[in-house]
Amino acid sequence: MQTEPTTSPPVDATITDRAYAESLDAADPLAALADEFVRPDPALIYLDGNSLGRLPKRSLARVQHVLEREWGDGLIRSWAHWIGDSVRVGDLLGSTMLGAAPGQVLITDTTTANLYKLVSAAIGWHAARADAKRRVIVTDADNFPTNRYVLEGIAAERDVELTFLELDELEPVTVEALAPVLDDSLAVLQLSLVDYRSAAFADLAVITEAVHAVGGLVLWDLCHAVGSVPVELDAAVVDLAVGCTYKYLNAGPGAPAFCYVRRDLQQALRQPIWGWFGQRDQFAMGLGYDPAPGMSRFATGTPSAIGAALVEEGVAQLAEVGIDALRSKGMALTDYLVALTDERLAPLGFRVMSPRNAAVRGSHVSLAHPEAYRICQALIARDVVPDFRGPDRLRLGVAPATTSYLDVWRAVDAICDIVETGEHLQLSTERALVT
Ligand SMILES: *Cc1c(COP(=O)(O)O)cnc(C)c1O
Repeated sequence: MQTEPTTSPPVDATITDRAYAESLDAADPLAALADEFVRPDPALIYLDGNSLGRLPKRSLARVQHVLEREWGDGLIRSWAHWIGDSVRVGDLLGSTMLGAAPGQVLITDTTTANLYKLVSAAIGWHAARADAKRRVIVTDADNFPTNRYVLEGIAAERDVELTFLELDELEPVTVEALAPVLDDSLAVLQLSLVDYRSAAFADLAVITEAVHAVGGLVLWDLCHAVGSVPVELDAAVVDLAVGCTYKYLNAGPGAPAFCYVRRDLQQALRQPIWGWFGQRDQFAMGLGYDPAPGMSRFATGTPSAIGAALVEEGVAQLAEVGIDALRSKGMALTDYLVALTDERLAPLGFRVMSPRNAAVRGSHVSLAHPEAYRICQALIARDVVPDFRGPDRLRLGVAPATTSYLDVWRAVDAICDIVETGEHLQLSTERALVT
């Protein structure tokens, strides 16, 4: 894997020069892609595409069409084709971004709901095999809150135990670190492929194999991975995966999430929400629940037709560029950001809290600073938008499709200026409702 920026510096500029950033942009094969997104304020520096991606221009036209033609004119008749969207768009996402053959990815619900459905189904699968010993769910103590809460809820509801592992956040998880839980009590290991705080990027195949070696199932959360790093679910024989579409996939706030279930597990898994969209021969409206064959059994109720259209546009746009090109630029952008941090921000008290090796880092960089919260607020006041994650992290997301090298340079320059002048010290330490 490549660990160096794809472009080389101009001979007469050093890395801290603005001209260096400009020359990297001039040589960037993806530079024009940013113009395919809505940008009402060209001066805004947006470093939060890992929380909510930008709006693709093509999505505006598509949603207009769905609203006017499909809903406005077509009304109920449009369900004739909307009904297939969850599977069709799931297959597009699977084949272009997840290394998944058709029939294994469904666009549905939220990541939170999909986690609940798939972990519950996995617990039920072990129980049906009368594997009574296998009653431990394991996750990372620093996993994203919704993941921890959902697993806590399942443990409270079923006869299973939840174990939180303390992992080194600056390195991707290793088989050695998992050793204490890799035994015949392991039911499900639930980890994030790219960590939401540090961006540590785990080895999907190696960890999956280690879980299989002790007879457990693995459920990967791909929220911070999909659309930013290559993912090969089939090749790694992953059991289950979930993820959202509003981060790097740019499908918009609250767009439907996805779930993946390996084909040979589908028939044996039963998810706990027995809705009519998961029913075999749905419109027969028969008595009694009989789950549909294949991925449709993981659906619940009426899906959003607008949401599916937005996921399709977001995915199709990135697929045209290709995940490998996006990954190369993501690595180069984060390498550049880490190098600028070492040069300009380390002397001001910032520490890099992401892996230093781009090969094991996703597409954001976390910086620790005791004043991270107020520095983040001061940046937002200057139209530089990163985010803050407690207790002391400034998280800088560099979405390969929309972030330029100059954005990175200007953000670092703004951070320097704020800290050097003490601008953030005038702001309140009171935390806002949404950070
Ligand atoms: C963003 C994110 C979520 C979001 O879940 P929702 O159900 O969409 O709110 C869940 N898990 C991880 C790891 C995330 O990064």
